[in-house]
Amino acid sequence: MLDRKESVEIRTPDDPALIDLCRQLHELSGSLDFRDATGNYPWPQKQLELCAQYGVFRWFLEPEYGGFGWNDHDLTLGYLALSAACQTTTFVITQRTGACRRIALSGNDFAREQLIPALLDGSRFSTVGISHLTTSRRHLRQAVLRAEETKSGFILNGFSPWVTGAIHADTIVAGAQLDDGRQILTVVPTELPGIQAESPADLVALSASHTGKVSLVDVEVDRQWLLAGPIENVMAQGIGARTGGLQTSTLAIGLTGAAIDFIFTESKNRSDLLPPAEALNEEREALKTILLQSALGAETCGTEELRQRCNSLVLRSTQAALSAAKGMGFVAGHPVGRWCREALFFMVWSCPQPVVNAQMCQLAGIATE
Ligand SMILES: Cc1cc2nc3c(=O)[nH]c(=O)nc-3n(C[C@H](O)[C@H](O)[C@H](O)COP(=O)(O)OP(=O)(O)OC[C@H]3O[C@@H](n4cnc5c(N)ncnc54)[C@H](O)[C@@H]3O)c2cc1C
Repeated sequence: MLDRKESVEIRTPDDPALIDLCRQLHELSGSLDFRDATGNYPWPQKQLELCAQYGVFRWFLEPEYGGFGWNDHDLTLGYLALSAACQTTTFVITQRTGACRRIALSGNDFAREQLIPALLDGSRFSTVGISHLTTSRRHLRQAVLRAEETKSGFILNGFSPWVTGAIHADTIVAGAQLDDGRQILTVVPTELPGIQAESPADLVALSASHTGKVSLVDVEVDRQWLLAGPIENVMAQGIGARTGGLQTSTLAIGLTGAAIDFIFTESKNRSDLLPPAEALNEEREALKTILLQSALGAETCGTEELRQRCNSLVLRSTQAALSAAKGMGFVAGHPVGRWCREALFFMVWSCPQPVVNAQMCQLAGIATE
């Protein structure tokens, strides 16, 4: 860990230190796309340490829990800046924050006191394994992660298909389903016997997020770690999920910003690139305005429609940047090639079925049903 310097903590999104942090994240971002000497993609440890040092992990929690209590508008601005600089680090932060907020807002004082201080100062890492209750493996008859209630807590069996940074996690906030259909959300300390975080998957992009499957065999979790449930549809309670579907759209617009900035820079010597850069930027500004208004509670378009529009723009703008970079952009190591691959992530990340359907229709050139 770097020495903690109170003076560099970013307490508002207009703090110049945010630009400084983003410059460092941007400089480090390319290295995450290549395997290191061990043959693995490097985990963004240094990037996360920088974020801890700059107080980023405190943005998301209220002062009563040790955070700076940024509102959703400011969090959107923060995420836009971070995601334009490094998509992998920012994505890891979203999953980490998902865990922190669910722990802090659960009403479980034990879990909060045990975990939140070290999560906020960056000395511990937690992540989420919840997609199997929302957008993953929903078509299967049997729940992939099952819970059995006992006197002292719950026994978990099965797996969580996608857990970002699982091999680095001290705790995972996981969802599981009981035989009667009720569900729980619980902290699972990774030191418990029976937990196996499998080797991270090689991904089309964001491999450095070290996302992989976590298997659980007869894992006994004490009730003191229970965050919510047992109840039907535990995720609908929205514990800690304040920003709802806006976060994914925000990261897409952040990446769009990086791609458009690249085209503008190229257009200084190639004036033919200016009209498309301006048109894409106009669309980005419009979507950013909608995002910020939605974050303030003044929605002008539904979350799913916004998500679809952001997905469409991030795909088009990153590919436009590739066209501008020409063959050089297709060489491994050039950022636009990476941005194109990162943009594909938005087609699958926590993507609700109506957004998937709309995306498919758009790609097929047919009207959305
Ligand atoms: C890089 C990455 C990181 C992630 N990190 C996290 C994380 O930290 N925490 C977390 O909780 N989640 C995480 N997720 C999960 C993510 O949010 C989505 O839930 C996930 O991408 C959904 O994809 P899936 O393949 O699991 O979907 P599924 O719907 O399970 O689809 C899997 C396969 O099942 C088949 N199938 C799908 N629907 C049907 C159907 N109706 N009938 C028959 N067959 C069907 C298809 O062949 C499909 O390929 C991550 C995902 C990715 C890609």
